[in-house]
Amino acid sequence: MTTSVDADVIVVGLGAMGSQALWQLARRGVGAIGIEQFTPGHDHGASHGESRIIRTAYAEGAAYVPLVKRSWKLWQELERVSGRSLLARTGGLMVGPADSSVIAGPLASARAHGLTYDLLSAEDLRRDFPQFRVTDDLQGFYEEEAGLLRPELAVTTAVEAAVASGAEVFAEAAVREVVPDPERPRVVLDDRELTARHVVVAAGGWLRQLLPGTAGLLTVERRVMGWFGHRDPAAFAPDRFPIFARSDSTGEHGSYGFPSLDGTTVKVGLHTWPGIDEPADPAAGHRPPDRQDAERFAEAVGDTLLGVDPYPVRMASCMYSLTPDRHFLVGGRRELPGLTLLGGFSGHGFKFATVIGEIAAELACDGSTRLPVAQFDPHRFD
Ligand SMILES: Cc1cc2nc3c(=O)[nH]c(=O)nc-3n(C[C@H](O)[C@H](O)[C@H](O)COP(=O)(O)OP(=O)(O)OC[C@H]3O[C@@H](n4cnc5c(N)ncnc54)[C@H](O)[C@@H]3O)c2cc1C
Repeated sequence: MTTSVDADVIVVGLGAMGSQALWQLARRGVGAIGIEQFTPGHDHGASHGESRIIRTAYAEGAAYVPLVKRSWKLWQELERVSGRSLLARTGGLMVGPADSSVIAGPLASARAHGLTYDLLSAEDLRRDFPQFRVTDDLQGFYEEEAGLLRPELAVTTAVEAAVASGAEVFAEAAVREVVPDPERPRVVLDDRELTARHVVVAAGGWLRQLLPGTAGLLTVERRVMGWFGHRDPAAFAPDRFPIFARSDSTGEHGSYGFPSLDGTTVKVGLHTWPGIDEPADPAAGHRPPDRQDAERFAEAVGDTLLGVDPYPVRMASCMYSLTPDRHFLVGGRRELPGLTLLGGFSGHGFKFATVIGEIAAELACDGSTRLPVAQFDPHRFD
């Protein structure tokens, strides 16, 4: 075991959040090291599966709107810096009864922030979006400021941009322990120990194991994504078919989906659905999708889309890191001096990865951030 004073800031975990934190630190000229147990862009965590939704009229709370607006800007900046396309603006359609979270939530956010949107009746929906199965009790909320992100490419692009700005990356290197310290926290690997002025811990579903004090704040659950064949490539292309979310009044049945990126399938996921809240152990890996997952999808897709086969041609497992109130954990804890935690993104964090990276860099460098993060205080459940 060798010990060295290695970096100003170390980022543990280079998934969605850690890769962006590393980029933001490096572009500020901070001597930063990023450490990832797998190869960045891998499919063992929460940041894989071809696509992630970005939307602006935020159903989960109006307080997210300034953050998501900043995220859009930073995604576009990363596209400009890298010359890669990471973001597609497809528009977003929320479908549900008037009192459902997918209609009432974005409406409240849009009104609070003066965002542009259209409310659609069941008749409007059938006319404008014939790809959806619409019963008379449903409404639509449509906004143009929504679309999709490419998760694997986004992670590898942020890591490459960080390296181009001077960051160092250790891939296939598992951190065994993070030791808090107000002066120089330590990061222990199998073959060496690193110290830094500050450590950002962005370990996703593994955060509980790495910092056991956070275990009470997080549960990790398995979620499955499915790809479904369709018969009309033009109708499901990104210029005709928006990202969507659909919910019933109770919120028990909540699904979402994407336009066809390969010309032959659309992707659908279940955010909430009876029976899907299965605990996951990231150390053991994702439990592969099975027949029961396919049956749930058949019900969801059959109820939601027209012209799409209800049984998936393929599926993939992923994991949610959930906090009790489904808001994020961003910041420090008194008993963990020298560390910034980025975790608990509760199944809706990817779109914010760029702004979370910026917040992490500000916290690591200045000890505070200009961006509104009070609702993500890791002490709020104490
Ligand atoms: C099926 C599914 C659909 C989703 N859909 C959306 C969506 O449409 N829109 C949206 O905004 N969000 C969505 N989300 C949520 C979003 O993807 C997550 O919030 C986000 O990816 C979490 O990023 P993360 O960096 O916290 O975790 P991860 O991306 O999992 O990164 C954690 C990283 O830390 C590494 N690590 C852990 N422990 C160690 C260690 N000891 N040593 C070294 N490295 C370590 C891991 O290997 C991993 O790379 C979805 C999530 C899932 C699962």
